[in-house]
Amino acid sequence: VSLETTARRDGDGWVLRGTKKWIGNGASGGVTFVWARVDDEGADEHGSVRCFLVEQETPGYVGTVIRGKASLRGIHQAHIVLDDVRVPLDAVLPGARSFKDASTVLYSTRSGVAWSALGHATACYEAALAYAQQRVQFGKPLAKFQMVQERLTQMLEQLTAMQLYCRTMADLEAAGRLRPTQASLAKYHNTRAARRIASTARDLLGGNGILLENAVMQHMADIEAIHTYEGTESVQALLIGRDITGMSAFA
Ligand SMILES: Cc1cc2nc3c(=O)[nH]c(=O)nc-3n(C[C@H](O)[C@H](O)[C@H](O)COP(=O)(O)OP(=O)(O)OC[C@H]3O[C@@H](n4cnc5c(N)ncnc54)[C@H](O)[C@@H]3O)c2cc1C
Repeated sequence: VSLETTARRDGDGWVLRGTKKWIGNGASGGVTFVWARVDDEGADEHGSVRCFLVEQETPGYVGTVIRGKASLRGIHQAHIVLDDVRVPLDAVLPGARSFKDASTVLYSTRSGVAWSALGHATACYEAALAYAQQRVQFGKPLAKFQMVQERLTQMLEQLTAMQLYCRTMADLEAAGRLRPTQASLAKYHNTRAARRIASTARDLLGGNGILLENAVMQHMADIEAIHTYEGTESVQALLIGRDITGMSAFA
């Protein structure tokens, strides 16, 4: 909401200025959607938010791939500098005229993150169950120990709650009734639960749990990114808390 990138009207176009970090495919893929705040003192639209479709080849646009990530290594994110990037008038997305419109995108992508968390957690649970059934310790499979069964039960309990969040959210979205806070709650719950499930799965695989070939460690690392993007755990809590109490505690 405290978006700092600016858009200024200039003749037959707009001029964008600012920096952004962690932008998915911001240095590849040809185009980037850039949200910016209109900086035009005196104009009615001053201070409002717009979204621009920016060709990455445009002069002044520099996207640099962020290197050294231990998480989500299958997709690039970029650090972007917009140094007086000039775009035509028709580069403005017609339906994006306020921060509320930007939020619509955010709550849709937050639902997506809740689903991602479910996918990662399911993979971790399945890996842990399969391992516990075949790994023999003290003369019997791990799965035959009471404490192991209890931990598998706790994982399934959390996984089922995650599924219910996703299923309910999908139904609400299909009916056009999904509220932003509900998407935040699903993201908050599912990324936190995925972290717990991945951690238990990693532990149940013993030493083998840290091997990349057993996948759990990779899911664990990927969960760390989804736990942060589209709004961190704390920021989701602030959004939900504001909805519950009617009081904003952001600053
Ligand atoms: C892999 C990845 C992909 C991403 N893709 C995109 C993308 O495509 N497009 C895009 O625009 N962004 C993208 N992001 C950015 C992402 O949304 C931000 O990283 C995220 O919202 C957190 O912001 P920050 O990194 O500035 O952390 P900060 O805001 O600096 O937060 C650091 C810590 O402080 C806490 N904190 C911050 N403010 C408060 C507060 N008021 N009260 C209490 N605690 C607070 C946070 O919860 C966090 O724990 C991506 C990030 C990652 C890691």
